[in-house]
Amino acid sequence: MELKYKRILLKLSGEALMGDDSFGINTEVLGEISSQIKEIMDLGAEVGIVIGAGNIFRGVKGASQGMDRTAADNMGMLATVINSLAMQDALERGGVVTRVMSAIPMRLVCEPYIRRRAARHLEKGRAVIFAAGTGNPYFTTDSAGVLRALEIDADIIIKATKVDGVYDKDPVLHADAVKYEKLTYDEVLSKNLRVMDTAGIALAKEDNKPIMVLNMTQPGNIRRAVCGEALGTLIGS
Ligand code: UDP
Repeated sequence: MELKYKRILLKLSGEALMGDDSFGINTEVLGEISSQIKEIMDLGAEVGIVIGAGNIFRGVKGASQGMDRTAADNMGMLATVINSLAMQDALERGGVVTRVMSAIPMRLVCEPYIRRRAARHLEKGRAVIFAAGTGNPYFTTDSAGVLRALEIDADIIIKATKVDGVYDKDPVLHADAVKYEKLTYDEVLSKNLRVMDTAGIALAKEDNKPIMVLNMTQPGNIRRAVCGEALGTLIGS
């Protein structure tokens, strides 16, 4: 099958790993996500993955409770490493060769992030999980996802969520919410749509990197997207 997008940067929120749990990592959900990743890799896609940490710890929350923001953000970044190792385990159990590369070097558990090595892993058919965000406090894993997508020259960023695209208002709370098929970066910013943080959208806009927001709880959706089906919401210029 022809792939429309060959090199993909998949952004998963930490909450995506919780499933219906209220905290932490749900191994069943991880298994489902990894089989969707395997499915596209079997078709020849090269996959980079960035995972958040909202299921464990967010810096902003720590800071709102009086913690030093940088310390809290460092904790958030380390929490993404926990999620990345869990994702690696799930992928490898499913037969996908995987490397975790951390923006904060920790050689005993994973590789340090080196762009050229990441590109090499991808060319060799290994899934690469980019851990520890950008390595800097005051950023998010959305920005890290866009940054890594630009660095590895991904064809598209897939932001996998629990809803099937971007709506004009919260579809869970409003029955009359309308889904956007397409949006420009400027519309996302001016309408203040909470798809991805402002820094991430601005960075994607600078390089004109397309972002697709889709529902990954629907098995097969990631495959359909990389094969070119118009799913969810496509953000571009
Ligand atoms: N974080 C950071 N720098 C980065 C990426 C992440 O400091 O480049 C920290 C920040 O505290 C953030 C936490 O890691 O709250 C988890 O990331 P995020 O909130 O993006 O996770 P998600 O919402 O995707 O689960």
